[in-house]
Amino acid sequence: MSPLKPRLKEALRDGLLRWYRRDRRDLPWRRTRDPYRIWVSEIMLQQTTVKTVSPRYEEFLGRFPDVKALARSSEESVLRAWAGLGYYRRARAMREAAIKIRDVHGGAFPDRYEDVLSLPGVGRYTAGAVMSIAFGKPYPLVDGNVARVFARLFALRGDLKTSAMSQRLWALAAELLDRRAPGDWNQALMELGATICLPEAPRCSACPVSRLCSARIGGSTGSYPESARRVRAEPLRVEALYVERGGRVLLWKRGDGERILKGHWGFPEIRHVDARPGKLIKTLRHSIMNHRIVLRLRYATLQGGGRPKSARWVNREKLREYLVSSLWLKCLPPRDGANSGLGGNRGTRYLFSPVGSRK
Ligand code: SF4
Repeated sequence: MSPLKPRLKEALRDGLLRWYRRDRRDLPWRRTRDPYRIWVSEIMLQQTTVKTVSPRYEEFLGRFPDVKALARSSEESVLRAWAGLGYYRRARAMREAAIKIRDVHGGAFPDRYEDVLSLPGVGRYTAGAVMSIAFGKPYPLVDGNVARVFARLFALRGDLKTSAMSQRLWALAAELLDRRAPGDWNQALMELGATICLPEAPRCSACPVSRLCSARIGGSTGSYPESARRVRAEPLRVEALYVERGGRVLLWKRGDGERILKGHWGFPEIRHVDARPGKLIKTLRHSIMNHRIVLRLRYATLQGGGRPKSARWVNREKLREYLVSSLWLKCLPPRDGANSGLGGNRGTRYLFSPVGSRK
């Protein structure tokens, strides 16, 4: 694609910036220039909708108001604060990044692009967002919304996910960037994609730059972006066990080798423990990342001996302090369910002894 004409660039910037400053949504992270707060919002908004993030953002900041508070927190407390937002590796990486900012940058959020980019969990998009929005520095960004807007504005042919197309999109973002207002410009592009240039049905009649849009002019908005090959979700069966004894429930800390929810507490699966499964409590369908899960949770009694570190008995009232993922929360059995499947545990030799639970 040849360089864009200066008049086209200016017209796009003028039209989009004027519209953004007049019509943008009033979102909590748009009321601050604090890089920590902007970074938190950008990480939360990856893969999660504005509607879900908005109320959780303030809660998270209430709990971890600055980098130092996040750096001195435990991983479990951060995961709990992240409950329901999904993609938990983002939360772990944020805590690691906060520790790095504390240890390497004295607790002050770095204002050099290379330093921001070197933080755990931060890629080119997030670094560009923090640098432009918090510090007003001229760094471009491309996310899914921006890519779709560009595909339509400039009638770009090809799969947006290829590396060649990615290079092209980033080059366009750099060329179009309004260096006088990089933060507003980047947000204006994303806002257009999120509210007007929607994936399925773009609202071209409300679009501030429709007269400059190649797809609209050519009457072919439905042809862009060209459909990429969909990644097929992998089916996954989870046979989980609910083992209760004296008001305490057996939980299992999932290891790094698990396909889903690595490092999370959950109910043990049948492959984790030597157990006799009983009555079915619930069958649940759920999706996590690229997995289409069918989970069956059963009451169970344990057999055999041994005492692996991965297990812990937890008071039933405290389960929600450990179970972060909605996969587990959605299948918690009713309070009186402990005696409904197995007729009690008397006489059973347990694989684990109680190893304590939190107060
Ligand atoms: S005119 Fe329509 S397709 Fe083009 S950028 Fe605006 S909303 Fe998107």
